[in-house]
Amino acid sequence: MRVSGLFDYTAAFKSAVDQVKDEGRYRVFADLKRVRGQFPKAVRRREDGSEQDVIIWCSNDYLGMGQHPVVLEAMQAELDAVGAGAGGTRNISGTTRSAVDLEAELASWHQKEASLLFTSGYVANEATLTTLQRILPGLIIFSDSLNHASMIAGIRNGGCERHVFLHNDLTHLEELLAAAPADAPKLIAFESVYSMDGDIADLAGTIALAKKYNALTYLDEVHAVGLYGATGAGVAERDGVLDGIDIVECTLGKAIGVMGGYIAADAVIVDAVRSWASGFIFTTSLPPALTAGALASVRHLKTHPELRDAHQERAQTLKDRFAAAGIPVMPSESHIVPVFVGDPVHTKMISDMLLEEFGVYVQPINYPTVPKGTERLRFTPSPNHDDGMMDALVSAMDRLWTHCRIARMPVAA
Ligand SMILES: *Cc1c(COP(=O)(O)O)cnc(C)c1O
Repeated sequence: MRVSGLFDYTAAFKSAVDQVKDEGRYRVFADLKRVRGQFPKAVRRREDGSEQDVIIWCSNDYLGMGQHPVVLEAMQAELDAVGAGAGGTRNISGTTRSAVDLEAELASWHQKEASLLFTSGYVANEATLTTLQRILPGLIIFSDSLNHASMIAGIRNGGCERHVFLHNDLTHLEELLAAAPADAPKLIAFESVYSMDGDIADLAGTIALAKKYNALTYLDEVHAVGLYGATGAGVAERDGVLDGIDIVECTLGKAIGVMGGYIAADAVIVDAVRSWASGFIFTTSLPPALTAGALASVRHLKTHPELRDAHQERAQTLKDRFAAAGIPVMPSESHIVPVFVGDPVHTKMISDMLLEEFGVYVQPINYPTVPKGTERLRFTPSPNHDDGMMDALVSAMDRLWTHCRIARMPVAA
């Protein structure tokens, strides 16, 4: 029992949770067991302990590489050969060999001199963007308004002058660049594929502005790496502008199917970040099995463009099938298939019914991830989602759209 009159910690935590609940943002995670070799199938465990077979429709393991035999064999072999953990930070314990090989492979993939691994894409963004501000005093950062939370965290942590430009709006970006002192160091931080709307930035246009105003470019290709370009190096490769990107940041956890993050850039940039970034220096490095698995995955992805073709074909087919059924699929230039619902209650309700009644797992996307009034479902079909799974999904959606009386008109994003 706490003494009355003193600070009530329990009440404070409870009120923090209640606030999230009141805003309709409270999350209950689906308890899923993926089945090796059967992606996107999984077994869901309900709260009462009973089980249900489900199809995962919202994974960021976009190509099913998290289940690929090439990846699993490499991870198992490495585990058997060198054991579990990396044993500490790289400064103290040295570097695992597969991490060195992976960094070389990643650098060459993006046609950069060097790359540097972090424990996640989040950490890569946060640590690098914070550190760049220490290395470049007076740095001004220009940040797209829809940038990921990890970039925002890194930009804010450094405390530098920052300007947010309207999403993918190069006219606005140029206004802001032109208004800044010509001699100040500048950096433009943006993403290639924006994962909630599925739109893609104008890389060449952004690079042209960076050149004109002597700014660095920092590109998050988290939702593009493995998926775009002849060898899968991302949209910069697809658009033939790898050269114009000064620092590229990616994850090993989505299309590559494992875990971790990295940057790739000129050797001197990477060396400076390696030497200055707390988020790199003071944390245990990725376990060897992960780096070996990621290395195998990247090598496979480089030489298997047919996976990328199949991925695009599946996404286009699902968009077409939703549209044909009058389901309001939002315009998307990428593999992301967003379906407009427009209010949080319906979005959550449809998501719950899809899961419970049809074994379809797709997360509701609500505010603050997307603006209020644009709540949606976000589907990410992989090459492993076959026609039968699509038939079942489209028919379930069709029934729910009727049942819940949701607008069928296509909606402009
Ligand atoms: C998921 C994500 C990250 C973080 O990558 P993790 O490896 O999952 O930490 C960074 N940027 C964007 C745009 C993301 O969607």
